[in-house]
Amino acid sequence: MRRRIDIVAFNELAIITHPKSGDHIPPFPRPHLESFEAPIRTQMIVEYLRKVGYLEKLTNKRAPKASFEDILSVHSPYLLDSVRLLSDLGSGVLGESAYASPGLLNSALLAVGGAEYAAELVVNNKFKHTLSIMRPPGHHASKSTPSGLCYFNNIAIAIRKAQQSEHVKKVSIIDTDDHFGNGTSEIFYADPHVQYIGIHEYDYEMFGVGHYDEIGYGEGLGTNVNIPLLEGASDASYSRAFERVVIPAIEVFSPDLIAVSLGLDTHYADPVGNMNLDTSSYYKIGRYIDDLTSRTNALGSFSVLEGGYNPMLLGPSIRLTIEGLSGMKMEKMDDQIDRLEDEEIAASNEEIISTVHSIVKKYW
Ligand SMILES: [Zn+2]
Repeated sequence: MRRRIDIVAFNELAIITHPKSGDHIPPFPRPHLESFEAPIRTQMIVEYLRKVGYLEKLTNKRAPKASFEDILSVHSPYLLDSVRLLSDLGSGVLGESAYASPGLLNSALLAVGGAEYAAELVVNNKFKHTLSIMRPPGHHASKSTPSGLCYFNNIAIAIRKAQQSEHVKKVSIIDTDDHFGNGTSEIFYADPHVQYIGIHEYDYEMFGVGHYDEIGYGEGLGTNVNIPLLEGASDASYSRAFERVVIPAIEVFSPDLIAVSLGLDTHYADPVGNMNLDTSSYYKIGRYIDDLTSRTNALGSFSVLEGGYNPMLLGPSIRLTIEGLSGMKMEKMDDQIDRLEDEEIAASNEEIISTVHSIVKKYW
């Protein structure tokens, strides 16, 4: 039976954690991006939630370990074998910014298991919204290549497992990470049953993927929606992207389940991302997601932690996401200070969002 509740109570939301999420300690071959994706990320979130009393109030489930069979529902045997082998060896390079450690396999299987469990709890109507607070992240991992701190694509594997339920045919993914979820987009690029919508910082010179012209392929044409914003995008640009593109696109697609690649590296004080959001934006995103589940009559949403590299801000950011999803009153946090959005950036982003809108509406 499906539920339609506008304001969900605290006990309708669960988080999924596991202390061994910290087993993967990547080596730091360069003082660079890699050093930020460390066990402290999930540890600080759990500690913060404990400190503010949320850990007691929320249902906190322990992530199970995913099976190799589950990994192979999305990834090539070569990718799985490579991760197993280099994890056994205790070191090595699996791809661009994807380094092995002795604890890699354990953490990575638990991160997939956490995502799968988060989806399962929603599909079985146990909770309306769930969040898997696990690492390493997953959205850069493609079918056969780990990269960008990601080894197994947690959200993609969880979706494939959820689709084994008779209640789940169509799934919409909202990827709010600062970076384009190239792995997730690629995995579902020709799949008409899985819609990928990514709002990300686009590097028009260097990166080359994540452009709004990438709209899916074959039967999946129109199901890939990229909203590439210029760095410095503020809350207003994100709200505009949601209202103009994300919400109508998902309403038209009418998913049974909403999956969120929750990236928190869009915060203005993140050391890696270059966007201009604060914790109030995460509250708003939580509200949009809760509202969308009601509007589309989806079973609910499950969120999977992707990036976010300022450990002091991860706890507050997750807290406000939870408050947004639950419809609680938003807590005023210290990071919510007035910041000006560069007018030129705002105008360019407005233009980009209009262009995306005109491209995707052909499929509505
Ligand atoms: Zn990221």
